[in-house]
Amino acid sequence: MISSELLPICIAGEWRLGGGDVYESLYPATGEPIARLRAASLADVEEAITRADHAFRTSGWAQRLPHERAAVLHRVAQLIREESESLAQRQRLDNGKPINETRNLVASAAGTFQFFAAALETLEETITPSRGAFVTMSVHEPMGVVAAITPWNSPIASEAQKLAPALAAGNAVVVKPAEVTPLMALELARICEQAGVPKGIVSVLPGKGAVIGDAITQHPLVKRVSFTGGTTTGKHIAHIAADKMMPVSLELGGKSPTMVLDDADLDHAVNGVLYGIFSSSGESCIAGSRLFVARGIYDEFLTRLAEGANALRVGDPASERTQMGPLITAKHREGIERYVDLGVSEGGRIRTGGVRPHGDGYDRGYFYKPTIIEGLGNSARISQEEIFGPVLVAMPFDDEESLIAQANDSVYALAAGVWSRDFKRAWKLGRAVQAGTVWVNTYKQFSVSTPFGGWRDSGLGREKGREGIFQYMEQKSMYWGTNDQPLPWALT
Ligand code: NAD
Repeated sequence: MISSELLPICIAGEWRLGGGDVYESLYPATGEPIARLRAASLADVEEAITRADHAFRTSGWAQRLPHERAAVLHRVAQLIREESESLAQRQRLDNGKPINETRNLVASAAGTFQFFAAALETLEETITPSRGAFVTMSVHEPMGVVAAITPWNSPIASEAQKLAPALAAGNAVVVKPAEVTPLMALELARICEQAGVPKGIVSVLPGKGAVIGDAITQHPLVKRVSFTGGTTTGKHIAHIAADKMMPVSLELGGKSPTMVLDDADLDHAVNGVLYGIFSSSGESCIAGSRLFVARGIYDEFLTRLAEGANALRVGDPASERTQMGPLITAKHREGIERYVDLGVSEGGRIRTGGVRPHGDGYDRGYFYKPTIIEGLGNSARISQEEIFGPVLVAMPFDDEESLIAQANDSVYALAAGVWSRDFKRAWKLGRAVQAGTVWVNTYKQFSVSTPFGGWRDSGLGREKGREGIFQYMEQKSMYWGTNDQPLPWALT
């Protein structure tokens, strides 16, 4: 247990118990409670947003010069690094990811603050070509109060991905973390305050999405929502946004195809496919969950893949040797089991996995074995729907035309992988596949300097990259008159 006391939440700089129900964050490896807190209430939402708006208008945060705000963001990055081990351990307890992975997420969060500090300090406004007796400029202004709504699968990294550019842009930010993983957003709010972000500029409101997330999204003072989560929730938020004429960015689900051509380096491809689907226990929006392998190498590839999946070390997230930890909740594991049953009822064969591991260290947690299912086509439900767990659907393909047609036959279009030694074939496939990100001869690699987002049901807008900061700003055109005479119209 991190603390037996109820944890306070952050309501526009005031740390106090929320007015909502008491709930517990459970350690997914054992099911034991690690923290208890009171969720935010609707009154807390109202207070946090009203006070955030006041802080936006009066604290001077938005008016600080870019290099001054950047200095604060650099301090946030530094404080995250100074506390990196305790943050990584806390995130492990909050969502059950293996410690090696949570260390990377913490490093990524620090890197994100550092990157957006640099982006802010070097951001240039544009002077556009003049077409009259005026000088024209395009500048950007902060929006006011913006909201960041995040899922449970990579809390500190996804929260930093929204908080850093939104703060860099000069806004006040209300963060709504996933109900089951509230801890890292609270830690980030504490660190931001310690680094010198004025009180009231950051709030963290844990609680139920349908209540607290919905109220935040509906609130008239919230000028933008940056959402990461499921497609159904994303569409609901888009409807509210349409009524408010509010811009949104939506980072949603995926069912990403990985394509292994007959000339691929098989050692690299086997490892890459395993990593692509089974790291993070498959609880990853970009998991390579649909596998297409050239028919000529299919049997050999699947044999090696199944051996590799069986050899993965599933277990204690505290161990540095663990590759796959537990799933987030018992309920989520049941959902994955239902999908595996569905695949079998549709005619699929379980090549490996398809069961919970048993024995010491497994029975209290929400573990599930890495699972490969064969014998189904791309139109099967488990080939089309996001499972968000360690389940790979494997299919052979005959030619590149049918491969591309199948890869693109999905409502999702978030990411894709191509494995081939032939540059030209990989280039053609990489350009033809519809996806926000394509990895060629690698998978699930990330860089904060490179935009990320999805097409179709995988989302709207892009995060990261230098331009990531602009989604938290409004663009303004300015015309500076240079004419010595009054405008001619007034004289006629
Ligand atoms: P979810 O949609 O259930 O919840 C995400 C967040 O939205 C949570 O904070 C939740 O409380 C909140 N929420 C729920 N209902 C809401 C409502 N009516 N109004 C406002 N907020 C609401 O998703 P999840 O189960 O937490 O996360 C898994 C999903 O997230 C998967 O589909 C996964 O693919 C997706 N995801 C996408 C990305 C990406 O970058 N594209 C990254 C990670 C996860």
